[in-house]
Amino acid sequence: PSLKSKNKRTEIDDIFIAIKTTKRYHDRRLKLLLNTWVALAREETYIFTDGDDKLDVPEGHLINTNCSNSHYRIALSCKMAVEYDFFMITDKRWFCHLDDDTYLNVPGLVKLLQTYNHTDDWYLGRPSLRHPIEVMKRSNPEQKIAFWFATGGAGFCISRSLALKMMPHASGGRFMTTSDMIRLPDDCTVGYIINNLLQKELTVIDRFHSHLEALWWIHNLTDQLTFSYSDNNIVHIDGFSKDQDPTRLYSLHCMLFPASDICDTLRKG
Ligand code: UDP
Ligand code: MN
Repeated sequence: PSLKSKNKRTEIDDIFIAIKTTKRYHDRRLKLLLNTWVALAREETYIFTDGDDKLDVPEGHLINTNCSNSHYRIALSCKMAVEYDFFMITDKRWFCHLDDDTYLNVPGLVKLLQTYNHTDDWYLGRPSLRHPIEVMKRSNPEQKIAFWFATGGAGFCISRSLALKMMPHASGGRFMTTSDMIRLPDDCTVGYIINNLLQKELTVIDRFHSHLEALWWIHNLTDQLTFSYSDNNIVHIDGFSKDQDPTRLYSLHCMLFPASDICDTLRKG
């Protein structure tokens, strides 16, 4: 029950942002996000991890999922299941999921979501493959199914209307059962539910970027909405030194928001 008008324009506080992480990455990866874009969406961002920690986030925003701390499919699906259930009990219009190595252009995302209606069914993201993924059904290995999914590493968003339709396959632990049925990771399972079971399209947002694509190749950095990084794949941008900013995400943040406190601190070296 909310006093907010149903017709008002989508703003930052209508968006639920989930970051998936694991305790051993709190220092190595999460700090970077907390120091940069999360500062622009402090109240909207929730961190789903597998251990307790003292982090500078609002009370209740660090969620220990009690999922196992491994990269196995089941552990990752467990976190996604908790993210989904958490979103469903909020009154937010949009569920957006990000990995802990992803930079988000916060005002850019708000502007994007203002152009879609949360009361319609929307699955916004970027596929990692140029074709739909093909899998065999566990219950019937003869039967092949093909569907599109948005790669978790580039971030994706789901409207509340669509999230509600996912309930029979996703809520209250059923996400794990569904994931187990196709034996694929969490982001594929989301695609399976939406594109295969519910027959809803993935809308491709090509301004989302994971480290599965060549990041140094991207121009117009200010127009892009998400970025990631990996060892040999980073965005090409001037700014802080490679030593100070190996992922280039501080440089990116300070190009977008030069007045941020963190940029001052970094400039002083
Ligand atoms: N992750 C996790 N538990 C693990 C390993 C990874 O929750 O044991 C999370 C990690 O924090 C990140 C996501 O899974 O948000 C993807 O991990 P990573 O970037 O290492 O792998 P990728 O799939 O991008 O190669
Ligand atoms: Mn990654």
